[in-house]
Amino acid sequence: MDKKTKILKFGGTSIKTPERVEQVIRLILSEPPTGVVVSAIGGVTDLLIELSQMAASGKKYSNELKSFMNFHIQFLHGLNIQQNLKKGAEAIQNIEKELTKNLNTIVSAQRISPELNDAVLSVGERMSANIIATACLENGLDVEYLDARNVILTDNHFGSAFVYYQTSYDRIRAVWDKKSTTRIITGFIGSTENGETTTFGRSGSDYTASIFGAALNVNEIEIWTDVNGILSADPSVVPEAKTISHITYEEAMELAHAGAKVIFPPTMIPALYKSIPIRIKNTFEPDNPGTVITKERRADGHFAIGISSLYNITLIRFQGAGMVGRYGVIGRVFDALAQKKINIILVSQVFSEHSICFAIQPEEVALAQSLLNREFEFELENHFIDSIKIEANLSLIAVVGEGMRHTPGISGKLFSVLGDHNVNIIAIAQGSSERNISFIIKNEEVKPAIRALHSFIFSNQKMQNIFLLGIGLVGTELINLMRNNDSLKVCGISNSQNMIIDNNGLKLDDVKNNLSTGEKADLDTFISMASQTHKAVLVDVTSSSIIAEKTASIIEKGISVVTASKLANSMNQDYYDSIRENLKISGAQFKYETNVGAGLPIIETLQTLINTGDKIEKIEGIMSGTLSYLFSQFDGSVPFSELVKNAQESGFTEPDPRDDLNGMDVARKILILARETGTQLELEDVTVENLIPSEMSPDLSVNDFLTQFSRYDSKFMNLFELAKKESKVLRYIASWDGQKATVKLKSVGEDNPFYHQNGRENFIIFTTKRYKDSPMVIKGHGAGAEVTAAGVLGDILKCH
Ligand code: ADP
Ligand code: ASP
Ligand code: MG
Repeated sequence: MDKKTKILKFGGTSIKTPERVEQVIRLILSEPPTGVVVSAIGGVTDLLIELSQMAASGKKYSNELKSFMNFHIQFLHGLNIQQNLKKGAEAIQNIEKELTKNLNTIVSAQRISPELNDAVLSVGERMSANIIATACLENGLDVEYLDARNVILTDNHFGSAFVYYQTSYDRIRAVWDKKSTTRIITGFIGSTENGETTTFGRSGSDYTASIFGAALNVNEIEIWTDVNGILSADPSVVPEAKTISHITYEEAMELAHAGAKVIFPPTMIPALYKSIPIRIKNTFEPDNPGTVITKERRADGHFAIGISSLYNITLIRFQGAGMVGRYGVIGRVFDALAQKKINIILVSQVFSEHSICFAIQPEEVALAQSLLNREFEFELENHFIDSIKIEANLSLIAVVGEGMRHTPGISGKLFSVLGDHNVNIIAIAQGSSERNISFIIKNEEVKPAIRALHSFIFSNQKMQNIFLLGIGLVGTELINLMRNNDSLKVCGISNSQNMIIDNNGLKLDDVKNNLSTGEKADLDTFISMASQTHKAVLVDVTSSSIIAEKTASIIEKGISVVTASKLANSMNQDYYDSIRENLKISGAQFKYETNVGAGLPIIETLQTLINTGDKIEKIEGIMSGTLSYLFSQFDGSVPFSELVKNAQESGFTEPDPRDDLNGMDVARKILILARETGTQLELEDVTVENLIPSEMSPDLSVNDFLTQFSRYDSKFMNLFELAKKESKVLRYIASWDGQKATVKLKSVGEDNPFYHQNGRENFIIFTTKRYKDSPMVIKGHGAGAEVTAAGVLGDILKCH
């Protein structure tokens, strides 16, 4: 597989200390990306704001400036930079000189012009990008520092500049066309045609990453921060908020606009136009898959995906009988405010049309009021508008999710939840996309309101939603077990003919009957329903190779899979690896404990040994309930073929006993165990002793086979007698010795643990670095629908 091209962005929190930067450098070195965008070191932008405010108000700031300068040089020392120290320190000092000069200009002017403000703020990102570039060089990675002002062209809206995409993209591409080295790029800043420095707005570095990602058409833009992606609410307000694993660009934009600080809203625009996924990951938990933002909607069974809040906004309310039926009022409000670049956060019009209100930031209220008084002078004087009222200390709460578009009555439900918690709603607005319902409430009611809404929307999150494929012996047992488990809801059941689906939960009585009158089975529809359901677990208790072949893509969709079938895990190694790769990316779970030894904890034990650092040296076992039964019964008194026939009649073999006798089932099991250790192995590499004589035609019916098989009874009898002479017994044993896997009929003596195997018992031995002298043994009843169903249920409950 080709390596993915990526732009990474590390936020201020990810590079707050030299130790954190070391972690960032490790991440960069592990897979050097096309470019790395960095924010200012956490807190530095705020310090720069303070410095310029001190300068403007005539306060002394020399001590603060000195410690600001020391801070960045100390940071280089903290990173133990030696060879590149001179170059790194020089870059920092040059930026400091410019900062000192700009602050002096502010002192003389006694005000901060928007141009100078942005020039001062740009210092943070230029410092940090130089530091990270120096640290990469010191670690042997060939990188170049890139000042984004040289490539990103903007207009002159200082503080929230607009980017000219096409020119910026051309310039960016030209840089990489010249040389494709990894660039360490300053976030947050650009420059005008005249070379003046501009910034995009607080948190704007995310946007820089998206601009570069789109220009270079990378495969993925990764925003690395200090939380596991976008959460269903701000974690400082709702500690139980969960990562949203998939979200659309539009949903992410709505959440961000309404205050989810984790991503800067315009970031979505360049990525959306180029359909580049944005992934949000935690620098301090790099294995967590985080959130991926794409076009595709992966509904999760909830009507909303998250809740955001904007703290402390002000509401301006127009009231008056003269507004009824008058058109153009809102337009005039917008125009008046736009002249002075005042941003309207929300507009809400009450049905009566007798009042409209809109929300703006508190610092813009005075200006807005004077603009509106001027614009509506005539209406106010003539009492068409009674008054323009200002209501301060309010917050906006937005509930966001594509699912709300199709679910009637949601705002009513949310209303009543807030009412039940005594939260007073001051205004309500539904975005035109219907993807967002926003409320305005008092500042002090924000926390209780968000918590109440969060628990209302996500409270059934613990419930697992089961989509069951197959209702043979195991499936039927499983349904019986699930009937009594109230942490599970069975939303779909399908066999090869029919399927029944109900997101509210199917009744588990008389399933077979209900299924027979269900709709025609369609695996793709079934999977798609699961992918639209939150906490979906697809349970495969079939022996269908079609499902096995789809397992990797099911997991890629974020659906967890529990399977009793060995097929997916014993297909070719590339496929096996792709399942593991998809698990990492999607965050879904894949459990298959019953692949070996039914309900016995064999795979889990093996995984625990490996995860705790043990080294597996050898795996041996009797892994077929059928063959273990046959050989433990075979004492010479009854011919072997007769034993097979009896076992088949009692249901102890597969319907066609050749599926047991050919050894392939056991071969798949030892393959699965060997692969668990990280070994690369194909099914063809397993040496298998087939108990069906090669001369027998594979086309025989089951009955003919059983009759003709008796011709070989003497062969089995001879093997038995030979073993008996040496006081040994026959056992069909699978083994893996660290390299080779074999499945073979062996004669074993009393000193061998397998000698004592009984009935249909499975018997597995792990010899490991820790368990060498006395290897670990797991044995017990290892076949049958009942124990297999219990094992499958165990796997389901372990999915989280
Ligand atoms: P960075 O320095 O990486 O840019 P930010 O501080 O800008 O990081 O954004 C991450 C922070 O956003 C989190 O630590 C969290 O406190 C806050 N946050 C607010 N709402 C959300 C949300 N819905 N999901 C995740 N984080 C959120
Ligand atoms: N350093 C800037 C800020 O603090 C931009 C960013 O962090 O993305 O707002
Ligand atoms: Mg940020």
